[in-house]
Amino acid sequence: MFQDLHVVDFHAHFPIKGDVSTSGVGVRQYAAGTPAAEQAAYMRAQAERYRAAWRLAWDFPEPDPEAAELSLETLADRWLAELDRYGIDRIGFATGGGNDILARAVKRHPDRFIGFAHHNPFAPGAAEEMRRAVTELKLRGLKILAPALERRIDDRGLYSLWEAVEALGVPVLIHFGMLGAGGGISWNERDNPGALEQVARDFPTIQFVVPHFGIQYVKELLFLCWACENVNVDTSGSNQWTRWMPYSLTVDDLIRKFYETVGAERILFGSDSSWFPRGFSIRYLQDQIRACRFMNLPDDALRKIFGGNAVRLFRLGGT
Ligand SMILES: [Zn+2]
Repeated sequence: MFQDLHVVDFHAHFPIKGDVSTSGVGVRQYAAGTPAAEQAAYMRAQAERYRAAWRLAWDFPEPDPEAAELSLETLADRWLAELDRYGIDRIGFATGGGNDILARAVKRHPDRFIGFAHHNPFAPGAAEEMRRAVTELKLRGLKILAPALERRIDDRGLYSLWEAVEALGVPVLIHFGMLGAGGGISWNERDNPGALEQVARDFPTIQFVVPHFGIQYVKELLFLCWACENVNVDTSGSNQWTRWMPYSLTVDDLIRKFYETVGAERILFGSDSSWFPRGFSIRYLQDQIRACRFMNLPDDALRKIFGGNAVRLFRLGGT
C-alpha cells in the first residue's frame, strides 16, 4: 500500500538498452560524414542538453550506463525492489525490448508486473502477433507511438489488428503529441488524438488510453473523450510539455479539468519510470496524490485513478 491506496502504475518502461521508446525517438543510422548524419548528431546533442536541464530541474540522478548492461533478471529484481520500497502494488511496462523479452521480464514477477505488446502495428502479421502476445506470452495490452507510425492511426490497414484486440479484451495505450526530448518530433500528420475517433467508434468495447493528458492536444483529447466513452487518459511522466503551452497550465489544472469533464473512471495514474538509479519516480505520484487530495476528491475517486481503473482495464480482479 502507498498511504491508504493500492497503487498500480499503468505506464512505465522496462529499461532495455537501445530501446526506441526509452530514448523517445528512434535512432536512425546514417552513413558517416553525410549531412543527414551531422543533422542526427546535432539533434542528439540538443536532446541531451534538454535532458540534462530536465534532470537538474527534478533533481534526478544521472542514468547509470552500467545499469543498462545488467541482465534482464537483475533488472526485473531491481524493479521489484522499487515497488516494494514504495509500496506500489503493480506496474505496467509499456515497452521492453520487444514482446518476447518483455514477457520474460514479466514472468519473473507475474504478480507485480504487467506487460504491453509493442510490435509495429503495420508489420505483416501484426494481428497474429497480438494474439500470440496475449495468449502465449501473457501480455495484457498494446502500446503504440502514433507519431512514429508509417500511417495514421485510423488507417484501414490496422482494422484487422483492432479486431484481434477487441476479441482479446485488452487495453491499447497510444501516445499522441510531441515525442522525445528536445530535438524530438514536435508535429506530424499522425500525432493528433482526434484521428482516433473513428476507430474508437468502430470498436466501442476496446479501451483506449492516451498518455500524458494528450500533451499539446489537451483540447482534442477532451473532446475525443466527450465523443467516445472508451477513451481514457493517463497522467504519466513529468508533463514538462506544459511549459511549452502558450498559456499557464499545470498538472493540477489537468487533473481538475479531466476529473470535472471526463470523470475519475477514465483517469489512470502512470509514472513513465524506466531507468536506474532513479527507478520508480515517486515524486510524480506524490505530486499527483497531493493535487487530488487538495481538490478534495472523494476517496473512491483516488482509488480509481491510482489503481482501480488499471485493475479493471487489465482485468486483474480485485486488488
Ligand atoms: Zn512512456
